[in-house]
Amino acid sequence: MKRLFCFSLLILIFVGDMGLGALRSEAWNVPDGLQSYRVIRVVDGDTIELEKLGKARYIGINTPETKHPSKGVEYFGPEAYEANRRLVAGKRVRIGFDAGKQDRYGRYLVYAYTGSTFVNAYLVEAGYAQVMTVPPNVQYADLFVQLQREARANGRGLWGARPLDSGKSIYWGSVNSNKFHWPSCEWARKIREEHRVVFKTRQEALDKGYTPCKVCKP
Ligand SMILES: [Zn+2]
Repeated sequence: MKRLFCFSLLILIFVGDMGLGALRSEAWNVPDGLQSYRVIRVVDGDTIELEKLGKARYIGINTPETKHPSKGVEYFGPEAYEANRRLVAGKRVRIGFDAGKQDRYGRYLVYAYTGSTFVNAYLVEAGYAQVMTVPPNVQYADLFVQLQREARANGRGLWGARPLDSGKSIYWGSVNSNKFHWPSCEWARKIREEHRVVFKTRQEALDKGYTPCKVCKP
Protein backbone atom coordinates (compact mmCIF):
# COMPACT_ATOMS: atom_id res chain seq x y z
CA MET A 1 0.00 0.00 0.00
CA LYS A 2 2.81 2.33 0.97
CA ARG A 3 4.66 1.48 -2.21
CA LEU A 4 1.58 2.26 -4.29
CA PHE A 5 1.28 5.62 -2.56
CA CYS A 6 4.90 6.50 -3.34
CA PHE A 7 4.44 5.47 -6.93
CA SER A 8 1.33 7.68 -7.28
CA LEU A 9 3.22 10.55 -5.72
CA LEU A 10 6.04 10.13 -8.23
CA ILE A 11 3.56 10.27 -11.10
CA LEU A 12 1.98 13.38 -9.61
CA ILE A 13 5.37 15.08 -9.31
CA PHE A 14 6.21 14.09 -12.87
CA VAL A 15 2.91 15.38 -14.29
CA GLY A 16 3.11 18.56 -12.22
CA ASP A 17 6.60 19.19 -13.52
CA MET A 18 5.82 18.91 -17.22
CA GLY A 19 5.51 22.67 -17.36
CA LEU A 20 3.94 24.84 -20.02
CA GLY A 21 4.08 22.18 -22.72
CA ALA A 22 1.29 20.30 -21.04
CA LEU A 23 -1.33 22.96 -20.57
CA ARG A 24 -4.92 21.86 -21.13
CA SER A 25 -5.58 24.93 -23.28
CA GLU A 26 -2.87 23.81 -25.74
CA ALA A 27 -4.56 20.50 -26.53
CA TRP A 28 -8.06 21.88 -26.89
CA ASN A 29 -10.91 20.24 -28.70
CA VAL A 30 -11.73 23.24 -30.88
CA PRO A 31 -15.45 23.50 -31.77
CA ASP A 32 -16.37 22.69 -35.38
CA GLY A 33 -17.68 25.15 -37.90
CA LEU A 34 -15.95 28.29 -36.70
CA GLN A 35 -15.00 30.93 -39.24
CA SER A 36 -11.37 32.00 -39.43
CA TYR A 37 -10.00 35.52 -39.76
CA ARG A 38 -6.52 36.89 -40.32
CA VAL A 39 -4.95 38.77 -37.42
CA ILE A 40 -3.72 42.05 -38.88
CA ARG A 41 -2.49 43.56 -35.61
CA VAL A 42 -1.86 42.52 -32.04
CA VAL A 43 -2.91 45.47 -29.90
CA ASP A 44 -2.02 44.10 -26.46
CA GLY A 45 -2.37 40.96 -24.36
CA ASP A 46 -6.12 40.63 -24.78
CA THR A 47 -6.98 42.64 -27.90
CA ILE A 48 -6.31 41.99 -31.57
CA GLU A 49 -7.42 43.44 -34.86
CA LEU A 50 -9.00 41.06 -37.34
CA GLU A 51 -9.41 41.39 -41.07
CA LYS A 52 -13.07 42.24 -41.88
CA LEU A 53 -14.16 42.38 -38.20
CA GLY A 54 -11.84 45.07 -36.84
CA LYS A 55 -10.91 45.24 -33.18
CA ALA A 56 -11.67 42.15 -31.13
CA ARG A 57 -11.23 41.54 -27.42
CA TYR A 58 -10.85 38.15 -25.82
CA ILE A 59 -13.84 37.17 -23.66
CA GLY A 60 -13.51 36.43 -19.96
CA ILE A 61 -9.95 37.58 -19.36
CA ASN A 62 -7.95 40.73 -18.70
CA THR A 63 -4.22 41.23 -19.23
CA PRO A 64 -2.09 43.93 -17.57
CA GLU A 65 -1.90 47.20 -19.50
CA THR A 66 0.93 48.08 -21.84
CA LYS A 67 -0.13 51.53 -23.02
CA HIS A 68 -2.90 52.80 -20.80
CA PRO A 69 -2.91 56.64 -20.72
CA SER A 70 -2.83 56.81 -16.90
CA LYS A 71 -1.78 53.33 -15.76
CA GLY A 72 1.18 53.12 -18.15
CA VAL A 73 2.97 49.80 -18.35
CA GLU A 74 1.66 47.44 -15.68
CA TYR A 75 3.56 44.52 -14.25
CA PHE A 76 3.62 41.64 -16.77
CA GLY A 77 1.89 43.76 -19.45
CA PRO A 78 4.76 43.49 -21.97
CA GLU A 79 5.04 39.73 -21.33
CA ALA A 80 1.31 39.27 -21.91
CA TYR A 81 1.50 41.27 -25.11
CA GLU A 82 4.45 39.17 -26.25
CA ALA A 83 2.64 35.91 -25.43
CA ASN A 84 -0.40 36.98 -27.43
CA ARG A 85 1.81 38.13 -30.32
CA ARG A 86 3.69 34.84 -30.32
CA LEU A 87 0.41 32.92 -30.50
CA VAL A 88 -1.56 34.82 -33.14
CA ALA A 89 0.41 37.55 -34.96
CA GLY A 90 -0.09 37.33 -38.73
CA LYS A 91 -2.06 34.07 -38.45
CA ARG A 92 -5.58 33.06 -39.28
CA VAL A 93 -7.43 32.31 -36.06
CA ARG A 94 -10.77 30.60 -35.64
CA ILE A 95 -13.27 32.82 -33.88
CA GLY A 96 -16.19 31.92 -31.63
CA PHE A 97 -18.77 34.20 -30.07
CA ASP A 98 -20.89 34.15 -26.93
CA ALA A 99 -24.29 35.73 -26.16
CA GLY A 100 -23.04 39.33 -26.44
CA LYS A 101 -21.25 39.80 -29.74
CA GLN A 102 -19.92 43.35 -29.31
CA ASP A 103 -19.13 45.72 -26.44
CA ARG A 104 -20.24 49.34 -26.19
CA TYR A 105 -17.12 50.47 -28.06
CA GLY A 106 -18.11 48.34 -31.05
CA ARG A 107 -15.33 45.83 -30.46
CA TYR A 108 -16.12 42.18 -31.12
CA LEU A 109 -15.97 39.92 -28.06
CA VAL A 110 -14.41 36.65 -29.07
CA TYR A 111 -13.02 33.24 -28.22
CA ALA A 112 -9.93 32.69 -30.38
CA TYR A 113 -8.30 29.43 -31.41
CA THR A 114 -5.00 28.85 -33.18
CA GLY A 115 -4.18 25.26 -34.09
CA SER A 116 -5.28 23.29 -31.03
CA THR A 117 -4.70 26.18 -28.62
CA PHE A 118 -7.66 27.97 -27.02
CA VAL A 119 -6.06 31.41 -26.76
CA ASN A 120 -8.31 32.90 -24.05
CA ALA A 121 -7.78 29.85 -21.84
CA TYR A 122 -4.05 29.67 -22.54
CA LEU A 123 -3.45 33.25 -21.43
CA VAL A 124 -5.12 32.49 -18.07
CA GLU A 125 -3.60 29.04 -17.65
CA ALA A 126 -0.04 30.24 -18.36
CA GLY A 127 -0.43 33.20 -15.98
CA TYR A 128 -0.56 36.07 -18.49
CA ALA A 129 -4.16 37.07 -17.78
CA GLN A 130 -6.61 37.30 -14.94
CA VAL A 131 -10.20 36.17 -15.15
CA MET A 132 -12.70 38.93 -15.83
CA THR A 133 -16.24 37.67 -16.25
CA VAL A 134 -18.69 40.04 -17.90
CA PRO A 135 -22.25 38.67 -18.32
CA PRO A 136 -23.83 37.54 -20.56
CA ASN A 137 -20.57 36.07 -21.94
CA VAL A 138 -20.07 33.31 -19.37
CA GLN A 139 -19.77 30.14 -21.43
CA TYR A 140 -16.24 29.35 -20.16
CA ALA A 141 -16.28 31.40 -16.95
CA ASP A 142 -15.99 28.36 -14.65
CA LEU A 143 -13.17 26.89 -16.72
CA PHE A 144 -11.23 30.17 -16.65
CA VAL A 145 -11.58 30.42 -12.86
CA GLN A 146 -10.30 26.87 -12.52
CA LEU A 147 -7.34 27.52 -14.83
CA GLN A 148 -6.49 30.68 -12.90
CA ARG A 149 -6.50 28.71 -9.66
CA GLU A 150 -3.97 26.30 -11.22
CA ALA A 151 -1.79 29.12 -12.57
CA ARG A 152 -1.73 30.69 -9.09
CA ALA A 153 -1.00 27.41 -7.35
CA ASN A 154 1.95 26.85 -9.70
CA GLY A 155 3.23 30.45 -9.50
CA ARG A 156 3.04 30.84 -13.26
CA GLY A 157 3.63 34.20 -14.95
CA LEU A 158 2.18 37.12 -13.04
CA TRP A 159 1.49 34.81 -10.07
CA GLY A 160 5.20 34.15 -9.60
CA ALA A 161 7.66 36.02 -7.40
CA ARG A 162 7.82 39.65 -8.45
CA PRO A 163 11.12 41.45 -8.98
CA LEU A 164 11.62 44.30 -6.50
CA ASP A 165 11.20 47.13 -9.00
CA SER A 166 8.08 45.70 -10.62
CA GLY A 167 4.97 47.77 -11.09
CA LYS A 168 6.90 50.81 -12.25
CA SER A 169 6.54 52.18 -15.74
CA ILE A 170 9.52 51.71 -17.98
CA TYR A 171 10.39 53.16 -21.34
CA TRP A 172 12.72 52.02 -24.07
CA GLY A 173 15.04 53.98 -26.31
CA SER A 174 17.89 53.11 -28.64
CA VAL A 175 21.49 54.24 -28.63
CA ASN A 176 20.95 54.96 -32.33
CA SER A 177 18.01 57.37 -32.07
CA ASN A 178 16.59 60.12 -29.87
CA LYS A 179 13.08 58.64 -29.54
CA PHE A 180 11.70 56.78 -26.54
CA HIS A 181 8.75 54.36 -26.49
CA TRP A 182 6.46 52.11 -24.51
CA PRO A 183 8.06 48.64 -24.65
CA SER A 184 4.95 47.46 -26.52
CA CYS A 185 5.47 49.93 -29.40
CA GLU A 186 6.21 48.33 -32.76
CA TRP A 187 9.27 50.60 -33.04
CA ALA A 188 10.48 49.68 -29.55
CA ARG A 189 10.24 46.01 -30.53
CA LYS A 190 12.60 46.68 -33.45
CA ILE A 191 15.36 47.97 -31.19
CA ARG A 192 18.01 45.29 -30.88
CA GLU A 193 18.67 44.26 -27.30
CA GLU A 194 22.30 45.44 -27.39
CA HIS A 195 21.13 48.89 -28.53
CA ARG A 196 18.33 49.24 -25.98
CA VAL A 197 18.36 51.98 -23.35
CA VAL A 198 15.85 51.61 -20.48
CA PHE A 199 14.44 54.61 -18.63
CA LYS A 200 12.62 54.21 -15.32
CA THR A 201 10.65 57.42 -15.74
CA ARG A 202 9.45 59.63 -18.56
CA GLN A 203 11.42 62.49 -17.01
CA GLU A 204 14.63 60.49 -17.12
CA ALA A 205 14.18 59.93 -20.85
CA LEU A 206 13.47 63.62 -21.46
CA ASP A 207 16.45 64.65 -19.31
CA LYS A 208 18.72 62.48 -21.43
CA GLY A 209 17.57 64.27 -24.58
CA TYR A 210 15.08 61.70 -25.84
CA THR A 211 11.73 62.78 -27.30
CA PRO A 212 8.43 60.82 -27.13
CA CYS A 213 7.66 58.57 -30.10
CA LYS A 214 4.77 59.89 -32.20
CA VAL A 215 3.33 56.40 -32.70
CA CYS A 216 3.04 55.08 -29.13
CA LYS A 217 2.96 58.49 -27.40
CA PRO A 218 4.72 57.49 -24.15
ZN1 LIG B 1 6.91 54.21 -30.11
